[in-house]
Amino acid sequence: MAKNPSYYDSKGQSISLVQQIGQGGEGTVWTTNRKGYLAKIYHKISQEQAKKLELMIANPPKNPTAGQNHIAISWPNDLIKDKQKRCVGFLMRQITGAKEMICVYLPANRIQKAPRFNWYCLHIIALNFISIIKEIHAKNYIIGDINTKNILVNDRSLVSLIDTDSFQVTESQTGNVYRCSVGVEGFIPPELIGKDLSKLTQTRYHDRFRLGVMIHYLLFGYHPFMGKWSGSGDPPGQNESISKGYWPYGNNSLLQPSQNTIPINVVHPELEKCFLKCFNDGHQSPSSRPSPEDWLNALQLAITDLVVCSKNKNHIYSKHSSGCYWCDRANTLNVDIFPSVQNPIHPKPLTSKSPPPPPPKPQNGSSSQNRLIQKLQSENRSLTVKVDQLNKRSKVLSKLAVISTIIATALASLSLFQYNELKKYTYVNFCNKTSYQTIYVALAYWDGTGLRSKGWYPVKSGGCKEVSVAQNYNGNVYGYAEYNSGEVSWGGQYSFCVDLVDRFSISESDKVSCSGSNQKSVTMSAWSVSPGTNNWNLSP
Ligand SMILES: [Zn+2]
Repeated sequence: MAKNPSYYDSKGQSISLVQQIGQGGEGTVWTTNRKGYLAKIYHKISQEQAKKLELMIANPPKNPTAGQNHIAISWPNDLIKDKQKRCVGFLMRQITGAKEMICVYLPANRIQKAPRFNWYCLHIIALNFISIIKEIHAKNYIIGDINTKNILVNDRSLVSLIDTDSFQVTESQTGNVYRCSVGVEGFIPPELIGKDLSKLTQTRYHDRFRLGVMIHYLLFGYHPFMGKWSGSGDPPGQNESISKGYWPYGNNSLLQPSQNTIPINVVHPELEKCFLKCFNDGHQSPSSRPSPEDWLNALQLAITDLVVCSKNKNHIYSKHSSGCYWCDRANTLNVDIFPSVQNPIHPKPLTSKSPPPPPPKPQNGSSSQNRLIQKLQSENRSLTVKVDQLNKRSKVLSKLAVISTIIATALASLSLFQYNELKKYTYVNFCNKTSYQTIYVALAYWDGTGLRSKGWYPVKSGGCKEVSVAQNYNGNVYGYAEYNSGEVSWGGQYSFCVDLVDRFSISESDKVSCSGSNQKSVTMSAWSVSPGTNNWNLSP
């Protein structure tokens, strides 16, 4: 390469390379005079690669963490051309302050480099990783070359994918496929082992094997196809184990769990099902492998069920287990893979960043009169309610199974910008768009320890009532409204038993049955809110 070559972007603006920070078989990676952007310059670029880059630049996947000011995918942004207008490489966003995934899941690395990444963080990383894959598949790209080096994780457990120019790209108009010809051992699905990847068009089912391997790495710390060899002769290599379906929980597998194997039932039962589907059913039938959505659902349930060990607060385990597996393991093997740390990070409820669903349509509620409500209506009913038993929390949340996208564990200190953001309040504004003179509305939200409600609020016809939720509340709220003691009501799909004596309190929020005379079963609508005003229009 000439010492100071002249490079330009697609608009003809000059780009200069500043410092080389990486080198590979295909080319070199440089910082540039454009802050936050790196350049990849190929040693030699084929026309096919240049065309593939053009297609990628024209159709980037959605960034699932855009709302958090985080770059989830270092996607090609623009071509880099030389003086003769030949493509020589591309520009991409630089990911800073992040570590390779292997630093957090491999116990020996983690203890040295990132000891606060406990099992909760690893679940969140898996969730964030899968959210990115979901967006990539949504645009019909196939990763092809997932490996632990091109996935980065930052201090908030947010994930970034790099090295994206190897992805398989399909041109939608012509159907032309630009293949991914590289693959790392351990991530190649059984049906592709031994084949020439440059001649193969891959599908999302092939990527789904890779997802299973990556999530296994995160939650167990090692590759799934490892175990104690029970056959004769030397144990097979990794590729051979994969192609034969030998893993410790395989059908007729000659690789069995060893004393170092973390039993598969340590993970949430829904995650266990996903792993079995991925590596057993999916062995013969790639389309049986769990989709990103399947993993997301299982991970959400699993995260909701995580609890903190009483002996070591950095031990996080699934509450379906009889006790803390990490304690048992530390006692048996004399090694604690999650040793205690100062200020360990503890599970918190998942929040949703998805836009609020449209307000529910009015339903005809039961016409049963409840005089207690009438009594209430003249009183000031401000109240805070806690569903105090901690074990209820998971039940409620799993039942409400919110759609979650990206969650940060917030390890990092807050920037001033983030601090200002945090000072914002979250409001729900109920508007009575009906001719009913007074609609009574109630709102509940999860405050981290219980479901809180501040009671009933009257909303006059044509008017609105703004109810504050909490400072900087991002997550789900549950709303209910009724006219004339339930003659007409607005709710949703979630049933709650509420106490009506002197408040709208959620006494048995995780049970639908509702027997007391002061109780009433209502269905509430759940929707996601963020700081600022969130409107709920109550229409006829
Ligand atoms: Zn423990």
